[in-house]
Amino acid sequence: MDHLGKGVVQTGKRDIGMQQKSDKVSIQFDDGTTHETNYLLVADGIHSPIRKQLVPQSKPRYAGYTCWRAVVDATGLTLSEASETWGPKGRFGVVPLANNQLYWFATQTAPANDSRMSQMTTSDLLKQFGSYHSPIPDILSRTPDNALIWSDICDLKPLKTYAFDNIVLLGDAAHATTPNMGQGACQAIEDAVVLADELAREGRVSDAFQRFEQRRLKRTHTIIETSRRLGTVAQLDNRLLATLRNGLFRMLPASVNERQLEMLYQVDF
Ligand SMILES: Cc1cc2nc3c(=O)[nH]c(=O)nc-3n(C[C@H](O)[C@H](O)[C@H](O)COP(=O)(O)OP(=O)(O)OC[C@H]3O[C@@H](n4cnc5c(N)ncnc54)[C@H](O)[C@@H]3O)c2cc1C
Repeated sequence: MDHLGKGVVQTGKRDIGMQQKSDKVSIQFDDGTTHETNYLLVADGIHSPIRKQLVPQSKPRYAGYTCWRAVVDATGLTLSEASETWGPKGRFGVVPLANNQLYWFATQTAPANDSRMSQMTTSDLLKQFGSYHSPIPDILSRTPDNALIWSDICDLKPLKTYAFDNIVLLGDAAHATTPNMGQGACQAIEDAVVLADELAREGRVSDAFQRFEQRRLKRTHTIIETSRRLGTVAQLDNRLLATLRNGLFRMLPASVNERQLEMLYQVDF
């Protein structure tokens, strides 16, 4: 930001569409203004209007479960590790944070955009997860209703293209994933690093966008599909299937999990 002149960055603008000409892009905003540019990095999230214009069939797909999250005070709780509990009423995840705080999330199988789910309070969630092991009920009890964030879990079916001449899609606009591997924001950050790397090379910017796409497609597709499958298995609420799953998971050697983590973390960018 220090390198940019005053007024270069404009906030509070909502793009609603664009017109791609041979060497320019004209962006339209909902305040009636337009902006013409040579190149466009599209990073406006899973509902990106510009991605929908470029790839009209790319609508967010619901994963079949909904999610509540909050950050709460964890004073008095002795938690040193993140954990996720899988049960017949849904999943409950706990992530200890710095400064005596804790992030939790809970998921439940539900129809998309269900008004009952959107209105759930902490005491409703306590009815749902109150029989789960300690400290889950305690964590819910210390969550004020106004700290709850509710969202249906969606992803994007993998796109074949992220680079469209002088336009490139980044982050959730390009490859939104379900959060089961905790990778959505991680992949957005990786995009930024890889794109900066490609832009630093000599040559045309649109070629850098192409090379960026080649470096990002496979990895982001694998994460979207693996994360979606993982969510389906984790979210099983049929008792018989869940019991089979739990038995199978107990039998799996730790090396299977480790291999999946290697795919994420041992990568030469
Ligand atoms: C329940 C849940 C749990 C998650 N857990 C994790 C996790 O553990 N680890 C992880 O890495 N990721 C996680 N994620 C995913 C992560 O939140 C996203 O992948 C990440 O925020 C994507 O970043 P982004 O910048 O691409 O998009 P966003 O964060 O969606 O940012 C898009 C920005 O564009 C703006 N915008 C939207 N529309 C327009 C428009 N028309 N014009 C202009 N601006 C616009 C928005 O205001 C926003 O500022 C989780 C997501 C959910 C829903």
